[in-house]
Amino acid sequence: MEIGTAEVRAGETTTGYVEATELPTDGAERLPIVVADGAESGPTLWVVGAIHADETTSLAVAHEFVEWLDPEGLAGRVVCVPNANPAGLRVTGRTSYYHGDDPNRYFPAADAEATRPPRVQEIIDRRLFDLVADTADALVSLHTSWVGSASYVIQPRVTYGRDRTEDEADALATRLTDLTAAFGLPVVNQYERSREVAEGLHRSLSGAAVHEAGIPAFTPELGGRYVVEDDARRYGVEGLKNVARALGVVDEPPRTEPQLEAPTPSPRKRAVHPPTDTAGVVRYRVREGDVVEDGEPVADILTPHGEHRATVRTDRPGYVLSRHEGATAYENDPLLDLAVPDDDPLVVARETDGE
Ligand SMILES: [Zn+2]
Repeated sequence: MEIGTAEVRAGETTTGYVEATELPTDGAERLPIVVADGAESGPTLWVVGAIHADETTSLAVAHEFVEWLDPEGLAGRVVCVPNANPAGLRVTGRTSYYHGDDPNRYFPAADAEATRPPRVQEIIDRRLFDLVADTADALVSLHTSWVGSASYVIQPRVTYGRDRTEDEADALATRLTDLTAAFGLPVVNQYERSREVAEGLHRSLSGAAVHEAGIPAFTPELGGRYVVEDDARRYGVEGLKNVARALGVVDEPPRTEPQLEAPTPSPRKRAVHPPTDTAGVVRYRVREGDVVEDGEPVADILTPHGEHRATVRTDRPGYVLSRHEGATAYENDPLLDLAVPDDDPLVVARETDGE
């Protein structure tokens, strides 16, 4: 058996490639793949890194995790694509340079409206996704967020109505929450379903794995991008080790203590908030990890001369995941990624959101 071009051999770690697409300058775009196949059979854990290729910590975490694995001692298999975006990696870019498309927004969605024939990034995503859907029992899509971000896990919502019943969705959600708990970082649920779809995040790798393939999948955000952050790298590697233990792929008792406690109670969800009414130079009053109350000032907006122009307050309580990068904001630009209280259910009907 092969996964991509990597031969699967019991008790060994092998490497190969996923043939992604032909290049116009000849040769092929290939995604590197590492397969650690256990001496004993068991579930298959997929780990995908650096699909946003400027998220260098995710690449380091993938490399270090597969190096740690001892295939002779595994019951099951780990399949790792450390870099799912070679075009981005060559230029330290978030997207691929084929058409500038975000590679993490083109995975399959059965009800995605095709307004045009698929472009190359969508074709590549389909090829990778088909391998995942055929072989994965769980998937971790490694990411980082803006410079200076907190580390946390984004947990997709679980849909029912098209591919599974509500009971099946509940069972899938239980498997998912067991794995995100095992990863051991604060869990932040994805946006409410309508916003998830509007942002194209139902077609992210972990979103599509859950919604389309019924595979428990999630997205760690491991600190900020551009440089490998050592704390975030350790959280990522330890999180993956513990997911492998929780799945039974690695025969060790899972650690039950979280790696990092959230400063606000669960359940939490993502919010990009607050926007500024006033354009100008942004000076933050808060930073990642800070707890904010309803009405609290979080930033000042200055003139180019440095004079105070406006104060921006949050009208949602929560804690700060990231400040947005850059010195300035235009009218209505959001300033923070927040983890806010989540009143929406984790398991949601697919038909009710008008997709
Ligand atoms: Zn990312």
